[in-house]
Amino acid sequence: METLSGKKVSMNTKEMESSDVVEPRDEECVEDRMDYLIKIVTQFHDHLKERASHYLGYPANQDCNDYVALSSLLKFHINNVGDPLKESVNGVHSKRFEIGVLDWFARLWNIEKDAYWGYVTNGGTEGNLHGLLLGRELLPTGILYSSKESHYSIPKIARMYRMDFETIASLESGEMDCIDLKSKLIINKDRPAIINVNIGTTFKGAVDNLDLVLQTLEDCGFSHDQFYIHCDAAIYGIIAPLLDQGHTYTFKKPIGSVSISGHKFLGSPIPCGIQMTRKSYRHVLSNNIEYIHTIDNTISGSRDGHAPIFLWYGLNMKGCKGLQKDVENCIKNARYLRDRLKHAGISTMLNEMSIIVVFERPLDHEIVHKWQLQCLGNMAHIVVMPHVAREILDNFLDDLLPKRNTWYQDGKVLPHCLAEDIGISNCACSIHGK
Ligand SMILES: *Cc1c(COP(=O)(O)O)cnc(C)c1O
Repeated sequence: METLSGKKVSMNTKEMESSDVVEPRDEECVEDRMDYLIKIVTQFHDHLKERASHYLGYPANQDCNDYVALSSLLKFHINNVGDPLKESVNGVHSKRFEIGVLDWFARLWNIEKDAYWGYVTNGGTEGNLHGLLLGRELLPTGILYSSKESHYSIPKIARMYRMDFETIASLESGEMDCIDLKSKLIINKDRPAIINVNIGTTFKGAVDNLDLVLQTLEDCGFSHDQFYIHCDAAIYGIIAPLLDQGHTYTFKKPIGSVSISGHKFLGSPIPCGIQMTRKSYRHVLSNNIEYIHTIDNTISGSRDGHAPIFLWYGLNMKGCKGLQKDVENCIKNARYLRDRLKHAGISTMLNEMSIIVVFERPLDHEIVHKWQLQCLGNMAHIVVMPHVAREILDNFLDDLLPKRNTWYQDGKVLPHCLAEDIGISNCACSIHGK
């Protein structure tokens, strides 16, 4: 393989364990240090290659080969500190790409170029931090509402901002239960509502029904100036608008902000995301900082200038058609996986138009580790991202199915009942599977 110094080396690359600590060395001799670096980086590259080819449980697209073409840009420290829409004296930034990417998402989410404000974040969590802060600053006495299936960043943010937080129950699908929302809104009618709506929950990939949330607010007598809605669209932010079903969420509806993770469906070698809100809210967090010649209205100060270029490049490489094709393929492969699991008598659930397959947690930790499955209680899930080709799913099933037969063959141990987690109709346990 090609190395740091451009030399070709062949070496015995024993598998590197995730837990191996690699401390910087301090050898006197430069050659020795270079040899050490080459060896470690080569081993680590091979380790990543192996782990990325068994990456099923986490919602990140590992198909990042195209970005190697941008490696010459790693020679620069690119910093997009401050408001992307404000030019600054610092010239080593990529704000023209950042604005280009934001414009693309503005079109996707139906908001005019001169009506939005946004920026490229460090990931979905930073988008949630920004959106919910806007909500709190606009409605300082508001209560934050979010379903129990929400990402862990939501209750964390409620604590960070010391906001009163109401957890709303969810349906079997993972969607927010609007009957529970209604009962909690009615009790707290005298205080504004800040609602986090999930466009794709982390574990089950459920999309909260935004129209029903809006209807519920209206039924409870909340006028538009008494609520703020942030859409956490980390995983589905790109997927949902590209589906034929049209727009489940859009700035045409009275929402305040939307955020997504750039490294999830789209794919990026480094974590990143998009936060978008209405331009009329731009002033809420703005603070003019004289010595950096910009306006401070983002959560972090220094911001990664490579990320907007990666996003821009990814969008160009795929185009809308390519992304749509990715979405269709992932949904098809998710259905294939669900059908194969179901056929093998395994409890499984896949929401409509979703790419997250929930199924019975494997008893064998080795399988969970090898395929990097995420588990929750008696459930596991696989996120069928664009890098998850059908062959990978076949290899996984070829690994799982024979092993599973041995776990349950003598009848002493029975598969767990998942009726409460994913519904009776999806449960294949000895009672519900009949
Ligand atoms: C992944 C995820 C987040 C957090 O995104 P990061 O990019 O990891 O910060 C937030 N919300 C949902 C629904 C997610 O799935």
